[in-house]
Amino acid sequence: MTVLKNNLFMLGYVWKYKKSMIFLKLFIASLGAAYTFIDIYFIKWIFDALGSKESIMFLFAIIGVAGLIHIFIGFTNSIYNNLLQPKMSLSVSEKINDEMIDKAQSIDLACYENSEFFDKYTRALSETNQRVNGVLNTFSGIISAILNITVIVSLIATIDIIFIVFGLLASLVVFTQGLIFNKISFKENQEKTPFNRQQGYVRRVIYQTEYAKEVKLYQPITLLLKDLFRKGKNGLIDITERYGKKKTVLTCMFAILQLAFENILPWIFIAIRTFAGIITIGSAAAIFNATNQLPYALNSLFNVIPQMHQHSLYIDNLKEILNYQSQIESDQSQKDVPKHFDKISFKDVSFSYFGSEKKVLKNVSFDFSNNQKIALVGTNGSGKTTLIKLLTRLYDPIEGEVTVDGQDIKQFDVHEYRKMFGLCFQDYRIYAMTITENILMRKAADERDIEKVEIALKQVGLYEKIRSLPNYLDTMLTREFDNSGIFLSGGETQKLVLARALASDAQILVLDEPSSALDPIAEYEINKIILETVKDKTVILISHRLSTTVDADMIYYMKDGVISEQGNHSELMLLNGEYANMFNVQAEKYKG
Ligand code: ADP
Repeated sequence: MTVLKNNLFMLGYVWKYKKSMIFLKLFIASLGAAYTFIDIYFIKWIFDALGSKESIMFLFAIIGVAGLIHIFIGFTNSIYNNLLQPKMSLSVSEKINDEMIDKAQSIDLACYENSEFFDKYTRALSETNQRVNGVLNTFSGIISAILNITVIVSLIATIDIIFIVFGLLASLVVFTQGLIFNKISFKENQEKTPFNRQQGYVRRVIYQTEYAKEVKLYQPITLLLKDLFRKGKNGLIDITERYGKKKTVLTCMFAILQLAFENILPWIFIAIRTFAGIITIGSAAAIFNATNQLPYALNSLFNVIPQMHQHSLYIDNLKEILNYQSQIESDQSQKDVPKHFDKISFKDVSFSYFGSEKKVLKNVSFDFSNNQKIALVGTNGSGKTTLIKLLTRLYDPIEGEVTVDGQDIKQFDVHEYRKMFGLCFQDYRIYAMTITENILMRKAADERDIEKVEIALKQVGLYEKIRSLPNYLDTMLTREFDNSGIFLSGGETQKLVLARALASDAQILVLDEPSSALDPIAEYEINKIILETVKDKTVILISHRLSTTVDADMIYYMKDGVISEQGNHSELMLLNGEYANMFNVQAEKYKG
């Protein structure tokens, strides 16, 4: 039942986005039935015409009409299969893809860190087009099989109903054979799996770069690999031989049974009926043809069941993703976000990631005010990025709250709230789009947008380079889609991502180690530019190179999920705690 429901669900999509596709498919399925009809009935007419000594012209006319109808059906099928269906199914999968992209926006970040969910998501996305076609083909397969069976059975019935029995018996043979062979193949594959894995492992070791160095250095390992591959082959040959013998015997047995029900018995009956004058020669030929076709028509109906099962597994996946109810992203809180804030506070905030007991933030409390430049520093893994993820509501705290001027951030419309922040994460990404689009993350609407981009590029020191490019701001990044696209170096890419944060209308800039690909001096300069030029915004800088954050108004030093020291640079140096220690160690390193 679920299988049927799932298939209908996908068909519903096709109906929603491309009704014409379903009507056309029905039309094509009916043509298939017409084809069967012609195949059987024209034989009757031709043989009957031969028997009754009709004029040769009449015969030619029948053959001509049959030929024309065949050509028409073949032509129409070809147009549909090669042109119409591929185009239409691309349109439908584009719509489903759109829904998936929208969904991706509304899925909580935590889901991406759940590998099971992520696997489902990628599978659902990668198979869309194939499944749209698959479901549609299965659906039309059912319709055309039913139409074919109806045509064949009624044709047989109009001539001599007894032949339906032969047709059914032959069908039973074909069906049973399919069933038994499927079972055997399944068991054969199952037994072969360990040996296939063995061989697959050897192939992987040969072509994967991680192994390449060692395989070259320790050449004798190739003998071991060959040995392992040979063992796999021996196992496979053994199984192939065993199942091969079984399949040969069964194939012969079924061939005999099929021959009996499809050919010998019908011929004997046909001969008896024709000699007795009950049926004409034409009917004899037609009925023989029909009895032969019935098993295949019935079989094609049974074959759709496993197909529907397969589609259903995929559709289950798709439905789970589409029906997924996010917690943060679909939050209905509507309160307006303040245009200007005075203070943002973390109050006793604790947090642990999905599936983990470990608290990566423990009762963190701190605040910062408008236009303040603050730095979060500390060892790797101390929780700095996590703090930012909570601040931007990519996650919610498990205890405590984050407030803007006293109001819990959960009360705001989450998407509006996030617009307060211009983010530049450690694992930033650039897109195979133009420089403008990479900075604005949308198309430029007017001259003011272009100006914004130029200012940001000047701030990060990329303007001169980009000005020299022939396509200027319309230059594509990467050569993924455009051979005239450019590749930026690691440092330049980071600057571009910085420009993205600077060009946003956000009130708060968050720069999470955005300059780790820069050398310490360049990083210092960039951070200085940001701290000095971005006068009208709050800036949160995260860095593990303390020399780059000395100019911040306030520095929070984090360790193991807590803020262990806070103050400006001189205060923290005076304190002579972990910050001062780390600063001195780093200063020594750069001196050397
Ligand atoms: P920092 O930014 O200070 O280097 P993070 O906030 O990235 O530290 O990480 C804090 C702790 O949380 C680390 O122990 C890290 O391993 C863990 N962590 C970070 N991201 C995830 C995640 N997505 N799932 C599970 N644990 C995570």
